[in-house]
Amino acid sequence: MVKIPKEQRRYCPHCDEHTEQTVKEVTNRSASPWSKKARKRQRKIDNGYGSFPYENPANRSRGGSNPTSGKKDLEFNCKECGKSWKPRNAIRAAKFEIER
Ligand SMILES: [Zn+2]
Repeated sequence: MVKIPKEQRRYCPHCDEHTEQTVKEVTNRSASPWSKKARKRQRKIDNGYGSFPYENPANRSRGGSNPTSGKKDLEFNCKECGKSWKPRNAIRAAKFEIER
């Protein structure tokens, strides 16, 4: 179980200094169909590549097993400038909680 505090003092890339920030988990955000990743996937679906797209994602071989943890989509909001930013290296955890 990974617990992170809701309010943290972190570096803000907009202010270029450490400020008080709130964290929230971004959920139910649909992927943009114009992103590079989505266009690549669509191109593979249209043209075909090997056995892509897979019939069942669970059958994909990923070193023998599918990962039970997932990358968490976090967004930090700076109280000083009001802008939000996302960390480059996402936290990977099976169980995740934001403490009040
Ligand atoms: Zn800021």
